[in-house]
Amino acid sequence: MNKPAQSVDAHSVMFITPRPEVMMVEGKGSWLTDNNGKRYLDFLQGWAVNCLGHSNPGMIEALNTQAKKLINPSPAFYNEPMIRLSNLLTKNSCFNKVFFANSGAEANEGAIKLARKWGQLNKSGAFEIITFDHSFHGRTLATMSASGKPGWDTMFAPQVPGFPKADLNDLDSVKKLVTDKTVAVMLEPVQGEGGVIPTTKEFMQSLRKFTKENNILLIVDEVQAGCGRTGKLFAYQHYGIEPDIMTLGKGIGGGVPLAALMATDAVACFVPGDQGGTYNGNPLMTAVGVSVIEQLLAPGFLESVRAKGELLSKELLAISAEFNLNGERGEGLLRALMLSSDIGGKLVELARDRGPEGLLINSPRPNLLRFMPALNVSDDEIRQMCNILRELLKQVV
Ligand SMILES: *Cc1c(COP(=O)(O)O)cnc(C)c1O
Repeated sequence: MNKPAQSVDAHSVMFITPRPEVMMVEGKGSWLTDNNGKRYLDFLQGWAVNCLGHSNPGMIEALNTQAKKLINPSPAFYNEPMIRLSNLLTKNSCFNKVFFANSGAEANEGAIKLARKWGQLNKSGAFEIITFDHSFHGRTLATMSASGKPGWDTMFAPQVPGFPKADLNDLDSVKKLVTDKTVAVMLEPVQGEGGVIPTTKEFMQSLRKFTKENNILLIVDEVQAGCGRTGKLFAYQHYGIEPDIMTLGKGIGGGVPLAALMATDAVACFVPGDQGGTYNGNPLMTAVGVSVIEQLLAPGFLESVRAKGELLSKELLAISAEFNLNGERGEGLLRALMLSSDIGGKLVELARDRGPEGLLINSPRPNLLRFMPALNVSDDEIRQMCNILRELLKQVV
């Protein structure tokens, strides 16, 4: 057990963020193991990506079977998993067409292009897309420009123009930004990176009504909130509305790089040459996507996500009361605990470094912790996580 910690020589890995001196080598369900054999209870799950936990058997089976059959016939041809996954997604949503991409940012780039194309055809070249303060849409130049993260407007200046920012849950702030150049409004049903801030039902419904009346498209970025995370297959389904465009990422691949741009027939106006990508719809990744979506749609699964979300919410509220914190919020298994001071970063480190078992959580803002466990996390693992939190809060608060 007490072997000396193995060193990690990562000098050739480009520095983009500080990382602990370990390598992750194995994952199973809600647990990760590093190169020293230390185990971590994983409530990050690859940043809300591994919706079925680590090493999900159905996904492994899909990967193996498809790898033996066909990995990539090129995007010039249809393939079977691409068609199966498109049909599954359209059958279970209000959308009619799907384009597959490799990352959430790429899917959002596609959504931006599609909206601008639609504006060229239907709204005299309108191209502005109203987005929101504290929103996150990705790390390409256009999606950074669409994002409302403080500081991102100057980080790689100049920005891509055409993304005025409104305030979430404030329809008047949207109305003020509308001009004859406005083609769409784009938002996350639950702002994830912004700190797990749900869009209210009243706002989403009045926004849908307003955009419809003014011939403006509604785009939902469900890269984080989609694919069962909030307890419904898609987060927009909580609101009783139908958007025009939706993007998916993260959970749709369950850990492999897969994303999707979805649109209604009325909006899907790309013509040859407008959109593409070497890996789009490749059968290896879409076969995994089929397995993921079928598992999410299995009888009782989404109900169990809602029940686990309620359990986590109840436990976090109890912790908040015990330690005089500021409550919790979220939808389904995308939740945040509001702290009483800026100790989020400290708690994340203590949780990871504690022994014998670590805990992986994250702090998108210094005064809160975010939880995005596997959707099949067990009740025991939720309670275990909460007891570790109690232990850490005792040390810090
Ligand atoms: C993570 C995320 C993205 C970006 O997805 P990548 O796969 O990292 O490019 C976009 N939008 C939202 C809401 C996200 O949470």
